[in-house]
Amino acid sequence: MSRAAFARTSPDAPVPQTDSLPSLRDAARNCQACDLFRRATQTVFGEGSEHARVVVVGEQPGDQEDRQGRPFVGPAGKLLTRALAAAEIHPSEIFVTNAVKHFKFEERGKRRIHQKPNTTEINACRPWLAAEIASVKPELILCLGSTAAQSVLSRKVGIGEHRAKFMPHPWAKYVFITTHPSAILRVPPEDREREYDRFVRDLKIVGAWLRGEHAA
Ligand code: SF4
Repeated sequence: MSRAAFARTSPDAPVPQTDSLPSLRDAARNCQACDLFRRATQTVFGEGSEHARVVVVGEQPGDQEDRQGRPFVGPAGKLLTRALAAAEIHPSEIFVTNAVKHFKFEERGKRRIHQKPNTTEINACRPWLAAEIASVKPELILCLGSTAAQSVLSRKVGIGEHRAKFMPHPWAKYVFITTHPSAILRVPPEDREREYDRFVRDLKIVGAWLRGEHAA
């Protein structure tokens, strides 16, 4: 598909009907279905194994992801990589992406500070996430934080209530919700290790399930 052939300009507009991740990625570059494309550098599409057993869904690209055009390459991504390794989940088993594909921020001096996407933006971007997941066909969708959970479940959910549970879902066998690594980076330093350990504990449940050592 050529880039000029497709431009999504409204939240209700469909995304291309294709199983091809490269075609989806290419089409998403031109998306203008919500206002977030206006100030961000570029669309940040998912990446990883095209036949991953787990699709990891975060919130949105951060500052570094926006500049590099790749998901989870900033500080939260580094923490996620470390936690996945601690949980013995191999990179070949995962595809990482975000609920929202453009960086939302406010400028404070020279810094660009993350802003949480709203429901309109999450819903506008949901078709891209659905298409990515339909292409990869994972066994499990791992939602990091409330924005990812809201997009995947199509409703607002409290993380505390649903955390670390296997929930059946039409897009995969199960959805599993845990915290976002950036939330761990935001807690006071004295609490950070405890929150990181809790995150790893959640991921270890997923790892054990993938190895057939833990029932859902
Ligand atoms: S955030 Fe999503 S829906 Fe909005 S313009 Fe970007 S790709 Fe399109």
